Amino acid sequence: MQNMKIQNPIDCVLGITYKCNSRCVMCDIWKIKDFPELPVEEYKKLPSSLRDVNISGGEPFLRGDIPEIIATVKKAAPKARMVISTNGFMPQLIEKQMKEILKIKPDIGIAISVDGYGDMHEEIRKIPNAWEKDMETLDRLQKLGMKNLRLAFTILPQNVQDFSKVYDETRKRGIQFTHAFAQSSEHYFGGSNNDNNKPDLEVLKKQYIHLINGELKSWHPKRWVRAFFAHGLYKFSIEKVQVLNNDPGNKFFYLDPRGVVYPSVVHNYPMGNIQNYDTLDDLWHSDTANDAREKVVNLGRPAWMICTARTAIKKNPQKVVKWIVQNKIGGMRDL
Ligand code: SF4
Repeated sequence: MQNMKIQNPIDCVLGITYKCNSRCVMCDIWKIKDFPELPVEEYKKLPSSLRDVNISGGEPFLRGDIPEIIATVKKAAPKARMVISTNGFMPQLIEKQMKEILKIKPDIGIAISVDGYGDMHEEIRKIPNAWEKDMETLDRLQKLGMKNLRLAFTILPQNVQDFSKVYDETRKRGIQFTHAFAQSSEHYFGGSNNDNNKPDLEVLKKQYIHLINGELKSWHPKRWVRAFFAHGLYKFSIEKVQVLNNDPGNKFFYLDPRGVVYPSVVHNYPMGNIQNYDTLDDLWHSDTANDAREKVVNLGRPAWMICTARTAIKKNPQKVVKWIVQNKIGGMRDL
């Protein structure tokens, strides 16, 4: 690793709290009993090279100082696009906080986690009226004039048949759809084990063909790239292979609420605690960070998530364009 050229990070997830008001079946964060929260000033240390920042948790709106965090991150990384990932279960509070946040960062996005259509969402999240609460949050945010909105679906064996229904709901509402495959993570999903996440293959394939063709049919290049990402996630969930190399700990990192930096949300190799450094840049070039990168290469498992995939897609535009051209004409019939 000594000679490896270390690049500046362009993408990150900031977990700002472990507090959570949901009880999701695929995540144990809500069982964590201590709630370390990084002081707002620590976010001043983030690098200006960042282009995409996902503010996550736990439930990030349970931090009352979330507007200050957004302002601090914006100052540190002025060119970064920002999205807040929320479970959406506090419609009034989210609306109130977003009125403040939109004054600071008018183009910020919100991703509301929705893991099923209607009752199925409640079954996964174990919160009464989960679907109604999220649709109320969405309505309130749309009334504020927000355009950068998406529903985020996490695939599990129980909910796989609802995948395309939630996708169709986003098309109806004119918002974006994003999705992930539930994975195990000691430092991100509270240690929950999702290694047996094996949805029915035929159902999964049908859902993906519907989604991929829906995105490819549009005339928005961004949606074609989302189709490519979906194709990559299908391959990853079935074969555990990455369609493109991505760079955890190189162009991407996860910062947890204690201040510990990891190569990604599934690579549990601490790179250092930001509180012990003057800047993230110093941490990024430390021996501990290099050791963590080495572990990713030697021990790390494959990953395909929107955060790490985004950097891989940017790095391999020809491969992505080739796939789009091959599949746009005539649509995709099989995977
Ligand atoms: S997945 Fe998100 S909303 Fe669900 S328990 Fe974990 S942190 Fe909370």
